[in-house]
Order: sequence, then structure tokens, then C-alpha cells
Amino acid sequence: MINVKLNNGVEIPIVGLGTFRSKSEDVYKAVLDALEAGYRHIDTAMIYGNEEAIGKAIKDSNIPREELFITTKLWNSDQGYESAKAALELSLKNLDLEYVDLYLIHWFKGYELAIDSYRAMEEMYNEGKIRALGVSNFNVHHIMKLIDNCKVKPTVNQVETHIALQNEFLQDYCESVGVKLEAYAPLMSHHIEELLSDETMNRLAKKYHKSVPQIAIKWLVTRGIIVIPKSIKKKRIMENFDIFDFELNSEDMSDIKKLNKANKIFPEFDNVPF
Ligand code: NDP
Repeated sequence: MINVKLNNGVEIPIVGLGTFRSKSEDVYKAVLDALEAGYRHIDTAMIYGNEEAIGKAIKDSNIPREELFITTKLWNSDQGYESAKAALELSLKNLDLEYVDLYLIHWFKGYELAIDSYRAMEEMYNEGKIRALGVSNFNVHHIMKLIDNCKVKPTVNQVETHIALQNEFLQDYCESVGVKLEAYAPLMSHHIEELLSDETMNRLAKKYHKSVPQIAIKWLVTRGIIVIPKSIKKKRIMENFDIFDFELNSEDMSDIKKLNKANKIFPEFDNVPF
């Protein structure tokens, strides 16, 4: 496992388990399977409604807390100074944890809300309830404004990133201000068939004796992007983590780069219908 050092010195495992649409009854086992396979990083969010089951799996795994990296997110309707504080307290209660490793503003919903929420997050960071602060679904201008108005720099921007939406410009900007890109929907989420049927990806999978999802995850890791593939199936959870025994050469990286279509599956940054 490779760790990425964030701008405050905290280290995040480069591959984690995603849990969007993982129902509580499935996610408990998925987290235990992932931890058994070697994952130490789990991504959830208040809105996923599965924090309690994840917290129970963490407890039952008996893995020391300091070895784990747990991310959760501030939901849109909880944005604001007081409500952000209450939301984190509830997430900590749900997860049965004293702190989370990474706390993200889930979506950009306006500058004032983002800045007020972030101020609350900074206070909770200083109280030791959060080890690293970040954002999700933020574009360049959102991050610029936040950095101008914060005391603790964000460490991560979690955005949709996959072969059809490669985000090179956003990654370059984020790197230039010390923010790491984290890829959600790395397997193209509910459009996974598009990834699985891609000709180039299948050629590379054959060449490296790996699966298409493994090539997709390795390509992101090779770009230095943190990645959180989701599965509730043990075999796939293991497969998605088994990507550290081969390297994609630069020619193959370039071939994948050609697959960019700037196709976004999830809503636009500024246009979330809730
Ligand atoms: P992914 O790109 O991770 O794809 C998940 C889908 O791929 C599921 O249907 C899963 O099915 C299937 N799958 C997983 N591994 C394999 C495999 N090896 N072979 C074939 N099929 C596979 O999509 P997500 O949308 O879940 O994104 C990943 C994570 O990112 C989320 O779970 C969440 O934690 C985060 N996220 C964050 C968002 C944000 O706004 N910040 C938005 C969306 C996601 P199955 O489970 O049946 O295996």
C-alpha cells in the first residue's frame, strides 16, 4: 500500500473502499472483507445512511484505530456554522469514533455556506475531532475563494474522475495549491459497462494479466490520485486492491489519456438538485 502525504503531514492510503449505495446490511461485511484484504481507508458520508454499520465493522475488526483512515462528509442541508458542528458530532456518534481522519464538504452550495461550514470544521480540527479537512465537488474558483478565506488549508478535493473524465487541469491546479485530488466513481459507477467494454482498457488488461477495473485504478494511482472504488462483493473488493504488483508504462498511460471525453456522470458542481 502506498500512502499519500497531505499538506498537514497526515498520511492517507492511496486506495480506499467506497461505500455510496452500499446498504447497511451489506456494508458491514464489505468493510470487514476490505480490512481483511488489507484496506485501511474507508470512505463514507452522512447522506449514505451507513455510518453506523461502518462504525460497527470498524469496532468488530479489532484493528487499532490509529491504523485506519476514515472519511465522512458534511451533507448539503447541514452546511452552515452551527449545523456543520452538529452534523460532525452526529457522524462521530454514528461511527462510534472520537475523530474522523478526513471531513469533506460534500458539494459546493455557495460561497457563504462553504466558508461558514469550513470555519466550524477548522474549530473541530483544532479540537482534535478531525485530522484533515477537505472538500468534494469543488471547482477551481471554489477552492481559490476558500483558500483566501481559511486558516487551515484544505488537503483534498474529492471529485468524479475516471477514464472518460480525466480532470488533468483540475489536478494541476489542486497540486499547485497543495491539495490532493481524490477520484470518486473511478470505475464509472452506474456507467461501469462503458469502462468494461472499452477496447483500449481490454487490450491493456490482457497485456498486464489484470482486469479492466484494476487497470483503471492503477492508472489513477500512477497519476498520484487517491482512489476509492466501491464494491460489496468480496472477490471484487480484493481484486480492486490487488494493483501494487505491476506498473503501467508511459505509452500505455498515454493511450488511456486519449480516452478522455470530459463525460460527467454525476451532476455539475454548481447544479446539484438538492
Ligand atoms: P465506482 O466507480 O466505484 O463503481 C462502483 C460500481 O462498480 C458498483 O456497481 C460495483 O458493484 C461495481 N464494481 C466494483 N468493483 C468491480 C469490479 N472489480 N468488477 C466489476 N464491477 C465492479 O462508483 P461509486 O459511485 O461507488 O464511487 C466510488 C466511491 O466514491 C463511492 O462509493 C463513494 O464512497 C464515493 N463517491 C463520492 C461522491 C461525492 O459526491 N463525493 C459521489 C459518488 C461517489 P458491486 O458493489 O456489486 O461490486
